[in-house]
Amino acid sequence: MRERRANDEFRLLDNRRRAKSHKAERQNNEFKTQENERRAEALKISRENDEFKTEDNKRRAEALKIERQSDEFKIQENKRRAETMKIERQNDEFRIEENKRRAEALKIARQDNEFKEEEKRKNALRMYYSRDKYKNNFDAMKSNYESNIKEGPTHICSCCGGLWFAYSIREYTIEMLANKGLKTEFINTVCYLKHAIIKLCATCRKDIMSNKIPNLALSNGLAFYEIPDCLKTLTELEKRLISPRIPFMVIRTLGFSKQFGLKGNLVNVSMNVDTNVSILPRSFSDTYTIQLKLMRQMKNKNAFMYETIRPKVVHTAVKYLVQQELYKDEGIVI
Ligand SMILES: [Zn+2]
Repeated sequence: MRERRANDEFRLLDNRRRAKSHKAERQNNEFKTQENERRAEALKISRENDEFKTEDNKRRAEALKIERQSDEFKIQENKRRAETMKIERQNDEFRIEENKRRAEALKIARQDNEFKEEEKRKNALRMYYSRDKYKNNFDAMKSNYESNIKEGPTHICSCCGGLWFAYSIREYTIEMLANKGLKTEFINTVCYLKHAIIKLCATCRKDIMSNKIPNLALSNGLAFYEIPDCLKTLTELEKRLISPRIPFMVIRTLGFSKQFGLKGNLVNVSMNVDTNVSILPRSFSDTYTIQLKLMRQMKNKNAFMYETIRPKVVHTAVKYLVQQELYKDEGIVI
């Protein structure tokens, strides 16, 4: 056999024949699996030899380098690598390990002066470009800033009802929150303001993500009641006519900050709602109005409040109020 293979022509033919039969054999799946296993095993054994491993790695790197010269192949491979990396980095342990490895590699690479210089140069260049961009965009940034200030904090957190600027708010849908492992019941309790898009501020977000109801959540009984229409339309003096108590207090501005504070005593004057209301003329149309003065003390000349009130509106409001728990508890009837 060896003698015959020495003949060049014969060897060529023989190799071709072998390759052909090999190819036919590999079409058989079982054979292919077995053979791949065998090859992997052989490779593993050979790679145990250090010299072979180095040689093999070099060969592989070389082959990869040649293949990567093709742009398409490079793009495909980069995509594949990024994908694998993304999946692997989802594992916390792997990520920590990899970050450590990268930091270590960077530390070693920095020991090389040339690398350090190059890195410095790159950083400086990046800084330069970003500054340049900033300068060019300054006017755009300024007008953006001004329009944001003008708009003000108008985004309402669905959980605490606080007002926020757009950048403090993250938007979610119920599905997104459910995907984070939160129960629907919990989401319904926590998101007090029912909108299709749930807006959450940083504080609420932190608590909700750890499955806790935020301290300032509206669902903790902190929500204001909806004011019924019949009470919304009341003027200042009309409100005082039907309120069971009139508190008198001195409110002053505090310093320059335009906040307000209470000064002195608070005088709480109880009123007779039924007398107040029954004194108003009983027969009226919707358009009747009467002039009314509220005196703080009868000996005073000037009225504390002087307004034109609408008896019809006052009657409608008081009829609503006497049906409410607070007025029932106080025993107010008309
Ligand atoms: Zn909030």
